[in-house]
This record gives sequence, C-alpha cells and structure tokens, in this order.
Amino acid sequence: MYGPWGCGICERCAAGQENYCLRAAELGIAPPGLGAPGSMAEYMIVDSPRHLVPIGDLDPVQAAPLTDAGLTPYHAIKRSLPKLVGGTTAVVLGVGGLGHVGIQIIKALSGAQVVALDVDDEKLALAREVGADHALMSDDSAVDAVRDLTHGRGADLVIDFAGIQPTIDLGQKMLGVGGDFSLVGIGHGTPTAKVGFFQSPYEASFLVPYWGYRQELFEVIHLAQQGKLTVHTETFSVDQAPEATASSGTARCADAPSCSSERTFSAPGRHILPRHFSAAEMNGRPGGPPGRAGDSAAVGAQGVLAS
Ligand SMILES: [Zn+2]
Repeated sequence: MYGPWGCGICERCAAGQENYCLRAAELGIAPPGLGAPGSMAEYMIVDSPRHLVPIGDLDPVQAAPLTDAGLTPYHAIKRSLPKLVGGTTAVVLGVGGLGHVGIQIIKALSGAQVVALDVDDEKLALAREVGADHALMSDDSAVDAVRDLTHGRGADLVIDFAGIQPTIDLGQKMLGVGGDFSLVGIGHGTPTAKVGFFQSPYEASFLVPYWGYRQELFEVIHLAQQGKLTVHTETFSVDQAPEATASSGTARCADAPSCSSERTFSAPGRHILPRHFSAAEMNGRPGGPPGRAGDSAAVGAQGVLAS
C-alpha cells in the first residue's frame, strides 16, 4: 500500500507525487498511521484502489516494509542518481531499517561505491552483507577514511538516515564539490546543515525529501521481485503490536553516532515515524479523519517492521 495519501486530483497527485499533495491539508487527508488509522490490525481501510500496488508472488512479509523502508530511500537516491556514475562515492549514515535497504538500492541502480557508517558492529556487518563496499565506525576517523577512499575528492552523495545534528555535522565533512547531502532521517529536535561559502562545498546541494512518489513504489516492488532488495524483518503478531512499537523506541540510537535517552523513537532496524511529529509537521497536513470509505478497499494488514 502506498502510504502518503493525497487528493488524487491536484497537479502533484496527477504526477504521482501524492506525498506533496497540494490539497491534503485543506481536505484533511492524513496518511494511515500519521493521523488516520494505520495497519496494526487484522484489516485496514485503504481510501482508494490507486493506493494499492500489486506485488505478484512477492512474499507479503518482504513487501510490506518496502512501502516506507524501500520507498523513502529509493526516492531520495533516485534524485541523486545522475551524480552516482562510475568512480563516485555514496556515504550512507545509519544502517537501520531504511539504511540497509538504501545500500542495496544504490548498488542496484548506480556505479557508486558505498561507504556505510554506523556505531554498531552488527549493523556494520549487515551493511557488508547487503553490499556496502566499506563499512566504518561512525566517528570523526571516518572523515579521513572517506577522504582516502575517494582520493581526496569527497562523497558525491551523503545520505543521512539518522538525521540528528552529529550525523549532519559528520556527513558535511565528507561531502565533495558538487555533491548532494540528502537528509532522510527525522532525528531529534531541529538539526541544521551549514550552507554557504566556506561552510559547504562549492555547488553542493542539500535535499530534504519526504517519502516517495506513487509510481516509485511500483519500481521498488519490481526491484524486490528481481531479488535486488532484501529487507531484514522481524515479524510480530497483531497482538504484539504495542510490544513491537515499544521495543522499537529504545534501539535506534545505534543509527546515530551519539544518542541521548530522550530519543524514544525510531529503532535501529525498524522504521517507525516519531510519534510526536504530527501529520501537519510532517507534510503540512492537519490530523484528520480516516480516508473516505466510499471507494475503500480492505486489505490484510502486515505486522512487519524492517529490521
Ligand atoms: Zn493532491
């Protein structure tokens, strides 16, 4: 199921960019789980058949996390693909639920070498397992390592799946001239990047993408069907949903180079949007009623989190 529901009618929705619907706030449309009822139940209401993407014979347990853990990194990486030709480097900050899929997407779609950074040895092992060319501890020593690995050039893409000030600061030190810094993780507080002369590389771009386009979910599903994306999952029963959500609240600190006990969302290996973010903060949308039931399709829920 495609998650960031829009009106389906405005210019952005017509282009499949429902994550940036021009009328969602006005119409009170909230994505499932972000203001409208989500999928931690036996069934869920999907407001329109257009939000369903066929998965063929793909394992539903593999497919379910792709709606976010696949689509979000895919959208971010696709924007930077023209810069990821042979001889280039992509740095992935945080090898959690999104990061480990992001590594596979970069390897599947581009000629870039992938350098993955995390503070957890298990996550670094996972990074290597899913195709990272290099997996390094996420600290200041990684800056010199990336410089060496790129022969002084710096990274052509830094994609930050943690999104906290330490990862942004670290990633900025690795970015090369003309590179993209893509901020995907929604970390703690309101971290900022430094942009300007003598603060960021010449012609560097800073991107803050949100989720993805509807047709891109088809593309992600196709990649998974070709065996190019494997999501590490942990499966829970519907009854265990509160437990799964609670346990996910303590672990993702490992995605970041530093971590405080205040960070009670986003577990490593499990992508759950921070609960204190309202739909309005996420996407300029107010919290609203569930989708319109008139043309609804009910689908079985998947109690699956990317791990
Ligand atoms: Zn729209």
